[in-house]
Formats: sequence, structure tokens, C-alpha cells
Amino acid sequence: MTQQVPLLINGKLVQSITEHWIPVTNPATQAVIAQVPCATTEEVELAVNSAKVAFETWKETPVGERARLMLRYQALLKENHDQIAEVLSKETGKTFEDAKGDVWRGIEVVEHAANIASLSMGEALENVAHKIDCYSITQPLGVCVGITPFNFPAMIPLWMFPMAIACGNTFVLKPSEQDPLTPMRLAELFQEAGAPDGLLQVVHGSKEVVDQLLTHPDTPAISFVGSVAVAEHIYRTGTDHMKRVQAFAGAKNHMVIMPDAAKKQVVNNIVGASVGAAGQRCMAISVAVFVGRSRELITEVRDALSKVRPGAWNDPEAGYGPQINPQAKARVLNFIQEGKNDGADCILDGSDCVVEGYPHGNWVGPTMFSRVTRDMSIYQQEIFGPVLITLEVDTIEDAIQLINENPYGNGTSIFTSSGAAARKFQHEIKVGQVGINVPVPVPLPMFSFTGWRKSFYGDQHAYGKQAVKFYTETKTITARWFEDDIDNGVNTTIHLK
Ligand code: NAD
Repeated sequence: MTQQVPLLINGKLVQSITEHWIPVTNPATQAVIAQVPCATTEEVELAVNSAKVAFETWKETPVGERARLMLRYQALLKENHDQIAEVLSKETGKTFEDAKGDVWRGIEVVEHAANIASLSMGEALENVAHKIDCYSITQPLGVCVGITPFNFPAMIPLWMFPMAIACGNTFVLKPSEQDPLTPMRLAELFQEAGAPDGLLQVVHGSKEVVDQLLTHPDTPAISFVGSVAVAEHIYRTGTDHMKRVQAFAGAKNHMVIMPDAAKKQVVNNIVGASVGAAGQRCMAISVAVFVGRSRELITEVRDALSKVRPGAWNDPEAGYGPQINPQAKARVLNFIQEGKNDGADCILDGSDCVVEGYPHGNWVGPTMFSRVTRDMSIYQQEIFGPVLITLEVDTIEDAIQLINENPYGNGTSIFTSSGAAARKFQHEIKVGQVGINVPVPVPLPMFSFTGWRKSFYGDQHAYGKQAVKFYTETKTITARWFEDDIDNGVNTTIHLK
């Protein structure tokens, strides 16, 4: 029988009693590798409740103890790094190297969470008025919720629950129903690291489960990563229910190539950044903007892309894997067709991609368009496939204006050897993550990850540096100290029974 993915409730792996199951498939073969449940209303309620009960003890747990849990977890994740990456590869189709990167980026966040003591220190100031001192402390919120997408099933859950739990909260994770095996492995290792029961719950399902968590009276903070349409729903519903919400959404990332850019660097970097991970990355470069005579590089980029071929996760020659499911593949093919119909030049067409030995895989070959205009759907929308589109402009000002007028603002990069051009770009561009001669400015836990416009909804970017602010409340205390008591020899110590 196919494996049935359990729920994690109050420290126990339990089988759902639901009648609704969703198949988890290997995207290279369509073989069903597991069935994931859509948890029942009662199961979700149980998960929230057990997190609520666990919070009462966990919030009083000394910070050193919380940090040591993260240290043990980090060590276990490192020990099991390759094994987690293999589970991840098999359910997402990502190449093994790519899967290892996914796990590693998550481990870095757990390392960051182990610094929770220094990260969550308050502030203090003496004599804000005569003999009055003021100080602030941070306190956890309660049961925090995380809803995660399919494309980074290790990194993105690890963006969320380690920081929230290190801050003293408890957590309910609702991972993507398309690749739940990796997050379950992360959860098992968290229990193995010694997490007290109830700290982390994992419930599975789709819209109904998410909506129950979003509207539940006992879930004050919601973290989401996924597509724009769902992010907008999450943000609206969550804030309507008076919760704090951070919703990371879609992207259309531009790379600007200046005429003075190092040619080899551009060609080498754009290949991995555009079609790597089959374009299923929120930081993928999907638009190349050639400024002035740099347009001469278009043919070279096309030639380099044409040498990349997709393949199975354990094929060391494969440049990337399949699309996550047949619908995702059909959506990408549809965009390619629309681009052609709209009059763009399809100079490399991966629509009819075949991978030997895997006739049923969701393959799309590297695809590239030139002569794209801003009104075309291939420019307007996130394709999330191995498709690079190119636009040509005359000046850096034109490139900056183009990017600033795009509805998305997740990542962008510029390739140039001019310090002045790089400075102008970084200063004027209205996008969260900016690369200078770096194609994918990967978010790091010690910085804030900052999508602009449609790429982020919320007011605190709670992956990275500001995570503590998102997952805690700040309390400011103003205290007056009476010296008279000391002068009079009054014993001011309070004895607690
Ligand atoms: P998705 O929006 O389809 O799903 C994300 C999560 O939302 C899943 O857990 C899913 O079960 C749930 N969900 C789906 N439909 C829902 C609905 N109607 N109501 C409530 N919940 C719902 O996203 P995906 O396809 O899994 O992931 C790809 C998307 O994520 C892309 O748009 C990509 O750009 C984006 N992404 C963004 C970032 C970022 O940091 N900005 C990072 C990774 C991925």
C-alpha cells in the first residue's frame, strides 16, 4: 500500500481519519509515492489546541534551553543532510545538488535561531526623567502558523518554525500538499532533537485547512509563502481577523546587462539563474534586459541555454528537473504558445522536450524569447518555468523605469563593470533583493528578506533579521526607583512563596 503521510499532533505522528486524500507523485514518472490527508476540522482544532497548551510551559522556558534545542536540531539536520535532500529530490524532482542547497539554506536559519538570546534582547535607558529608567522586553505571541509552497519544502518551513519557536512560541505548520514528505522529515528530526510535545504540529490539506487556521481565534500570527493570488487571500483574511500576517508572494525578476558587463560572467550566470530548478524559484531570473550594444550577447545566451538539458534527480548531467505537476507543465506550455501568438520571437523552444527513460515526466526544455514587449502576457505574468524572456532598451534609465513599473519587486540584478552604474541602480531600483554582478541575491537569515509591491504583503519581513520582531511583542517598562526606601533601611526584597 502507498505510504500515508501522518499528521504531527502533540508530539505524536498520527494517521488522519479523513476521507480526502491527495496523491503525492514523482514528477519525473507520475508514480504515486504517498497519499497526503486533508486533515479534518477536529484534527486541525486538536493541533491548535495542543500548541496552545504547550505554549503555557514553553513561553516560560529559559532562553538558553530554547537555544540549545536549536543547536541539537542543527546538528541533527547536518547529520541527515543528504538523506533529507534525497527525500526532497524524489518528491520534487529537483536535482540532488539543488536539493542539498534547499536543505542547507534551511540549516542556516536554524543556526541563526540558536542565537536567540542576543537576537531578542530588549533596550534600556537610564534617567528618561529624574530617577526614572525605561526598558523594553520581548515576549512571545502564542500559536503561530506557517503555510508553505512546494518549491522549497525544506528551506521555507525552516524559515518559519525555528525562529518562532526559539522566540518562545509554539507552531502549526501546513506544508504544501505537493511535497509533504520533506517537511515531515524535518518535523521528525525536530522531535528527535528533544522538542517538548506540542511545540510543533504539522497538519496537511489545502484551502479548507488553511482557512480554518487563518480564522481561528487562537492563532495570532500567520506566515505565508506562495503565489500572489493566495497571498492576497491570506493577507486579507488574516488581517480581517485582526492577526499579524506576513505573506511572501510571486516574482518576475529582471537582470540588467550593461554594455560594459563581463561577457563570460553574464553568460555563465544567466543560465543557472533562469532555468535552474526548472525556473521554479521565486528568485529565478525570468527577464533579461539588454542595454545598448549588450544585445549582441543574446545569441550567446541562447546557445548556452540550448546546451542545458533537464533530467532525473540522480542524473549528474541534468541541469534541472521536471515541473512539479502536469498542470504546471501545461501552464508553462500555454505561456510559450501565448508568447508566440503575441508576436515574440521564440529563439529557443523547449515545448517538445523528451527525456530518455522518463516518458511521463513533466519536462519543459530551456526556452528563450526575444523581441518581447511589455504588454505581452509572458512579460506581465510569473511563468515559473525554464523560460527566459529578453527585452532591449537604450539606457540604464530605461531599464530602471521598466523594472520599477513591473508589478513585482522580489529580486533583480545588474551586471556592469561601472561602479557609478551599479550605485545608480542600487539606489533607484524599487525591488527588495538587489544583486550587483550576482544573478540571484539569495536571502540570508542575518538580513531582512524584502519583497516590494506584489511580492510581499505585510509590514514586517519576518524571515531573517526582523523575525524576532514578527514573532514577539515588545513591552516597554518605565520604572521609578525611590531612594527613600533605601535611606530608611526598608527591606525592598519581595518574598514569593
Ligand atoms: P500556492 O500559492 O499555490 O500554494 C502555497 C500554499 O498555499 C500551499 O500550502 C497551498 O496548500 C496553499 N493554498 C493553495 N491555494 C490556496 C487557497 N485558495 N487558499 C488557501 N491556501 C491555499 O504556491 P505554490 O505553487 O506552492 O508555490 C509557488 C509560488 O510561490 C510562486 O508564485 C513563487 O513565486 C512563490 N514563492 C515566493 C517566495 C518568496 O519568498 N517571495 C518563495 C518561494 C515561492
